[in-house]
Amino acid sequence: MSQYELDKQLSDVLVGWYWVNQRKLPWREDNDPFHVWLSEIMLQQTRVEAVKAYYIRFLNEIPTIEVLANTKEEKVLKLWEGLGYYSRARNLQKAAQIIMGEYGGIFPQEYRQILKLPGVGTYTAGAIASICFDAPTPAVDGNVLRVMARILAITESTDLPAVKRNITHALAHIYPQGQSGAFTQSLMELGATVCIPNGKPCCEACPVQSFCRAFQNNIAEDIPVKKQKQVRKIQELTVLVLVCDGCFAIRKRESKGLLAGMWEFPNVDGKCTSGQALELAMRWGVAPSGIDDPIERTHIFTHIKWKMTFYYIRCQTPAKQFHWTEQSALLKTYAVPVAFKLPSQWTQQ
Ligand code: SF4
Repeated sequence: MSQYELDKQLSDVLVGWYWVNQRKLPWREDNDPFHVWLSEIMLQQTRVEAVKAYYIRFLNEIPTIEVLANTKEEKVLKLWEGLGYYSRARNLQKAAQIIMGEYGGIFPQEYRQILKLPGVGTYTAGAIASICFDAPTPAVDGNVLRVMARILAITESTDLPAVKRNITHALAHIYPQGQSGAFTQSLMELGATVCIPNGKPCCEACPVQSFCRAFQNNIAEDIPVKKQKQVRKIQELTVLVLVCDGCFAIRKRESKGLLAGMWEFPNVDGKCTSGQALELAMRWGVAPSGIDDPIERTHIFTHIKWKMTFYYIRCQTPAKQFHWTEQSALLKTYAVPVAFKLPSQWTQQ
C-alpha cells in the first residue's frame, strides 16, 4: 500500500458519522448552489460562528444570483463590512454577472466551469461540485489537509503543493457514489469538531481512529508539519478623525490593492505627534481648532500589521477634498473596514 492509498471504507464510515453528527448550520438547509457558494466564500479565512449572521443577512437582502448581479457594489460591500478580505465580495458579484451573462442565470454544474468563476479556487469548486452536483471532486483546504495528513501520517510539510495534490488525488478515488456532498462535508466537519487544529485532536471520539496512521503511531499531535510562517511586515499609520459641525471627513480608497474601494478616515504613513497631526490638518485646509489624546490600535492582515494612531480633531472648515458625513450615515451607509472603525470612545462626541 503506497503512502497515499486510502481504504475505500473510510468514506462510508465518515459519511455515516456525518449524517448523525453534523452541526446544524444555515447553509446546510439545502443544496442550492448559490447558498453553498456564498457560504464557502464567506467561510474562507473566517470562523463559522462569525459567518452565520452575515450569511443570513446577505441572503435576506440579496436572495438570488440575479439580484446579486444587479446590486450596487457599495451595497454588497456594506453587507460584507466586518468580514474582511473584501475582494471576496467583489469577485462574488463579478461571478454572479458572468453566471447571468454566460449561463443564463443558472449556476454551472461542471467543476471546470465553476473553477473559472472569479474568486473560486480548487477548494470552493470542489465543494460546490460535490455538494450541489454530486461530483467526486475533493475540497481540500487547510482543515482537510490536516485531517488527511494525520490519517496518512504524512510527515512532509503540508505546505508543499505535491502533498496537497497527492491527498486530493487519493480522496478522489474513494468518493462514494450518491454521497459526494456528504463525504466532502464529513471531512470538513471532522476537521472542525474532532480532528482539530492547535493542540490535541479528540482521537477518543474519532470515527476513523482505526484508519488513522498518526493515531496508531502516536504522532497525531506532531502532524501537520508546516513550513515556518512568514513574518508579517509592520506598517505605522496615522489616522485623522476630522470632525466639522458633527460631520466626519471620509474618503474612498483606491480601486485596487488592500481594502480597495472601501471608505476610510484620512490617514498618512508613519506615526505623527499631535503637533504634526494638527499641521497636517491645517495643510488639508480643515482649520483645526482642537485635538484629543491619541488612541493606539493595531490591525492584522495576512501579510501586514498596521500599528495605527488615531487623532480626533475638531475642525472649522469642511474642505472639499473629503466627503463629509454624519455618524449615523457613516454607520449605516458607507462600507468602512474594521481597521478604520471609529474608536468607541469617540462615537458619542
Ligand atoms: Fe484526527 Fe485522531 Fe481521528 Fe486521526 S484519530 S483523524 S488524529 S482525530
